[in-house]
Amino acid sequence: MKEPRRIESVPGRPARRVLEADLCVVGAGAAGVSAAVEAGRLGLRVVLVDSLAQIGGQSVNGLIGTLCGFFSMGDAPYQLSYGFAADVLADLQAAGALAWRPGRRSFVGLYDEHELAGSYARHLRAAGVEVVLGAVLAEAQREGDRLRRIDAWTRHGPLSVTARCFVDASGDAALGALAGATLQQAELPVYGTRMFSIAGLGRPVPTRAAVIERLEQAAPRYGLARRDGFVFEFPGRDLCLVNLTHFQTPLDAVAMSRVALEARSEIDRVMAFLRGEFPQAFGGARIQSVGQPGVRQTRGIAALRTLSTAQVRSGERLPDAIGRCAWPIEFHGREEGVHWETFGDEHITWIPLGAMVARDLRNLVAAGRCVDAEPFALGAIRVIGPCMAMGAAAAAAAFLGGDDLHALDVAKVQALVADNLERRDPGPAA
Ligand SMILES: Cc1cc2nc3c(=O)[nH]c(=O)nc-3n(C[C@H](O)[C@H](O)[C@H](O)COP(=O)(O)OP(=O)(O)OC[C@H]3O[C@@H](n4cnc5c(N)ncnc54)[C@H](O)[C@@H]3O)c2cc1C
Repeated sequence: MKEPRRIESVPGRPARRVLEADLCVVGAGAAGVSAAVEAGRLGLRVVLVDSLAQIGGQSVNGLIGTLCGFFSMGDAPYQLSYGFAADVLADLQAAGALAWRPGRRSFVGLYDEHELAGSYARHLRAAGVEVVLGAVLAEAQREGDRLRRIDAWTRHGPLSVTARCFVDASGDAALGALAGATLQQAELPVYGTRMFSIAGLGRPVPTRAAVIERLEQAAPRYGLARRDGFVFEFPGRDLCLVNLTHFQTPLDAVAMSRVALEARSEIDRVMAFLRGEFPQAFGGARIQSVGQPGVRQTRGIAALRTLSTAQVRSGERLPDAIGRCAWPIEFHGREEGVHWETFGDEHITWIPLGAMVARDLRNLVAAGRCVDAEPFALGAIRVIGPCMAMGAAAAAAAFLGGDDLHALDVAKVQALVADNLERRDPGPAA
């Protein structure tokens, strides 16, 4: 090979990259990818921006482990979300990367996060979505009650995206915050978890009940505060995922970075607990990988309406429903444990469009875990199935509403996402 010459240059400040779109989606987690793909399929020019270097948000980078909220509860479950959500399930199934098992009166799907990222990437490409990774929001420009442009920083220089409509799928309402929208959050902290996987397992891997029983006895000895949680084995991967830590997730870069480092030492204490209390299963095990710090609930936009806990508990079908979910109220409001509230077999939680459309910006819609819901209510709708359904509804709203989502004809949005409201394909056990 010819030896390349060395070339010197003084490039100056990198030029701003400017993209124009019909829809700009901020956040490439389950909700944002779904919004982007569905909007691309509807013919919109879509730009999807994320601060991470890899798509998928927590569903890929958090080692979450299971897909929840895709099926109704009870003995004869049916599928709740279709379109992009169903395509992703089909991809995982075809790759042998999904195993359904009963959980929380419904079904949870153990999945391979690498296959999920691959599926997201294929559908984004097929839908013609322009994806910009490694782009951290820096500024949002508005004219009156319309958002006009976002600016972001990438490692290669500044980026601007102008669009008619915007989706905040950042999980923390990062876009709403920069745009000066009214925001809301729980008055007390909601705890996050750093998931990790361990390899080199012995058998048997302890049940959830066995882990909780040992935690009750021995947690203080290992310096662990959380008294519940679980480990679960992945079929065919000789891997066990561990969900046993709890920490606060402040909206401050310095404080959150400290938390992330402390979470690593909490993981070491969890490993000491597992090895000490279950030597047969974990005596020779080692940490395989550690997910990014998992954030459950922080801050959301204030929308046209708030999904209340009473509405979740009643299962009332709301007039502007755009998606369904069947998951208990799962609220991580105490360091020691989790508040679970389960429902009957027929129970459905209906997600209203009004809880997604920003109250004081007419062309901003939220999707995923930063929609407007009371803290317990959000604990029932922030799992991956309904996050994808919210993404689909955000795309439909952008397609129909353009830059005025306050004037949307809700019935037309509902017609576009009708499968997510009415269809009942049989679930895994039927
Ligand atoms: C520990 C843990 C375990 C869980 N277990 C399960 C489970 O088993 N099953 C299940 O279904 N759900 C589970 N969940 C819930 C579920 O994972 C999340 O609620 C869901 O994935 C949220 O998706 P999202 O798209 O709303 O947000 P996220 O996945 O958080 O995506 C938000 C994206 O926005 C980007 N972003 C944020 N701020 C900016 C910014 N300023 N500029 C640019 N980009 C930005 C982020 O990089 C991220 O990629 C769990 C959650 C946690 C924390």
